[in-house]
Amino acid sequence: MQDSTPAIVFEDIEKSFGSLKVLQGISGSIQRGEVLAVIGSSGCGKSTLLRCFNRLEKINKGRLVVNEIDLSHPLLSQKQLRRLRTQVGMVFQQFNLFPHLSVLENLMLAPRQVLGKSRQEADEQARFYLQKVGLAEKAEVYPEQLSGGQKQRVAIARSLCMNPQIMLFDEPTSALDPELVGEVLQVMQQLAQEGMTMVVVTHEMQFAREVAHRVIFMERGRVAEAGTAPEVLTQPKSDRLRAFLNRMS
Ligand code: ADP
Ligand code: MG
Repeated sequence: MQDSTPAIVFEDIEKSFGSLKVLQGISGSIQRGEVLAVIGSSGCGKSTLLRCFNRLEKINKGRLVVNEIDLSHPLLSQKQLRRLRTQVGMVFQQFNLFPHLSVLENLMLAPRQVLGKSRQEADEQARFYLQKVGLAEKAEVYPEQLSGGQKQRVAIARSLCMNPQIMLFDEPTSALDPELVGEVLQVMQQLAQEGMTMVVVTHEMQFAREVAHRVIFMERGRVAEAGTAPEVLTQPKSDRLRAFLNRMS
């Protein structure tokens, strides 16, 4: 994969649910190694945009290329879709861990089943990423024995076990008690520093300021403002973005 090719390109994409136009011709791109923060009021289409990037939603119009896979091509093959799903990891607000599996088993499942890794290889990798998110000692416990922050760190580690090239985060700290937010953001910051390409939907403006390279502010399915993090977050052009930022701080 060439470093110079963008990780994600989206041009004029549209997405509707029935008569509801959720994405109304939205464009942008994400370079490799870049952290893009997506901000905007509830219902403006942030999750839908993110879900289009890994094909949880199919766009109606426009061009969308993710990791050199053209998701807008009419003849997108199952093989390409499977490739996309392994290359693009996603972390949700709700952690979606399997409750009946131990932490280690949660991390080993997809590498074993989807990538065909051996038990030993999957085990070693799972422990490596658990260590990375600071939870090496939790390998044998079950999700219900973890705090929300720990569950989310496990969810991030589980995603990393697929060796993704792009990570999508949809409000990963919104369901957490305030005192648990920091530990998750710290893991994400570390990941960013290591050069992971990341798209992060977040209401954590401080995180966006400190970690994101670029920010897009969405309004009703469109990009209302976009630019570097300082441009968008400290020099907003529109009154609406200024008002939004005031509400968030
Ligand atoms: P955000 O993440 O910015 O809060 P979403 O992308 O979740 O916004 O939702 C944008 C709009 O699309 C909302 O009005 C929401 O109700 C609607 N929507 C999202 N997903 C679906 C769906 N699967 N079916 C119908 N409407 C949906
Ligand atoms: Mg959302």
